[in-house]
Amino acid sequence: MELMDKITSLAKRRGFIFQGSEIYGGYQGFWDYGPLGTELKRNVKAQWWKWAVYDRNDVVGLDAAIIMNPEVWKVSGHLDSLTDPLVECKLCHKRIRADQEDKISEHEKGHDKKVVWSDAKNFNLMTEVLLGTTEPKEKAYLRGEITQGVFVNFKNVVDSTRVKIPFGVAQIGKAFRNEITPGNLTFRSLEFEQMELEYFIKPDEKESQKTFEYWKEQRMKWYLSLGIAEDKLRFRDHEPEKRAHYARFATDIEYKAPFGWSEFEGIHHRGDWDLGRHKLTYRDPQTNEEYTPWVIETSGGVDRAILFFLIEAYREEGERVFLALNPKLAPYKVAVFPLLANKPELVKKAESIYHDLKKSFNVAFDARGNIGKRYFAQDEVGTPWCVTVDFTTLGEETVTVRDRDTAKQERVPVDNLQEYFQNKLR
Ligand code: ATP
Repeated sequence: MELMDKITSLAKRRGFIFQGSEIYGGYQGFWDYGPLGTELKRNVKAQWWKWAVYDRNDVVGLDAAIIMNPEVWKVSGHLDSLTDPLVECKLCHKRIRADQEDKISEHEKGHDKKVVWSDAKNFNLMTEVLLGTTEPKEKAYLRGEITQGVFVNFKNVVDSTRVKIPFGVAQIGKAFRNEITPGNLTFRSLEFEQMELEYFIKPDEKESQKTFEYWKEQRMKWYLSLGIAEDKLRFRDHEPEKRAHYARFATDIEYKAPFGWSEFEGIHHRGDWDLGRHKLTYRDPQTNEEYTPWVIETSGGVDRAILFFLIEAYREEGERVFLALNPKLAPYKVAVFPLLANKPELVKKAESIYHDLKKSFNVAFDARGNIGKRYFAQDEVGTPWCVTVDFTTLGEETVTVRDRDTAKQERVPVDNLQEYFQNKLR
């Protein structure tokens, strides 16, 4: 089985990612996160929020609405420019993104006759919605990027907080794009989540280059710190003709996925494009100088991050399959087992340890089957530590803690467990 098939199957079997509306045959480009996927997603977002907001003192958060006054999208340029160039197969009229050469050649192989393609035409990716109760309904849009919510609230944020330039606004939320060729599990979906930081600076060419480089490095470090291997990551600068309409320059962080080097996240120098278009300025409280700030943006996909963390974590060692997820991301931090399910004193003790640990971590409890099967089940979902309560526990008040990656066990006093895991998760 190919790696992507293995990940897809594990993701479904163990409740990470389900096809959207599956019992109705699915709905292309939409995905649902199952119980464990939801935990993983919350952990990815929490790590990002900690990095962007809590570990700094120059960034504040925002949570803007998904639907905005349609005027925003006209002014921001997205109605004209959030487009993908598509070519159409003149034999069957299927449209494919002009820059996806692999898909084009795969499509050509499916026809007996030589395929002739139309010239590339731009298609807008904004998703329309109709609002109101009377006809004609008003046409609005699901946001195509979450960023605009930050720009239109720029003045609100400055007026309501104590931020001073340079400062950042962080946001996590859903975005929607009418993608023509969704695929590779959640990699390209029609509904997805972004985690973005907009960092506002005083206009200055040199300073902005420095800031751009700073955030590039910071973002790369974040992925490395959460377990992506260095040789699977790279920067790729956008050629001028590929840059989005708002970007003065842009770099992607790419991951070496099983389907090729793919964008994890974009770092964009948006200059004064957005604030300028929305006619928003900043007045320096000390000098009274008024100007349109420039912005450097880091724009990552939550769903892509989850997918790449899963791919990166997937391990096979003989019969053993495990997800070597960074413990901070793992859905369960600990699983607690009684050695034997039919010994009430072991079960009772295990339950008491489980309830205690649950106050601080997301913990699983399992008393089914034999211990080997329970390890297997926890390995497959990436639980970093398994605690087993055995007869020694009853006398000595110690348990075995088994490490997911090494499968090594050590005995730890019950009273120290809380601190033991806390230290490991630091
Ligand atoms: P691509 O070239 O892959 O379509 P993009 O350059 O259009 O992506 P951006 O507009 O820079 O993407 O969006 C920032 C981030 O949002 C991307 O790096 C990605 O992580 C995420 N993202 C964008 N489009 C999608 C999508 N259709 N499905 C899932 N995530 C997406």
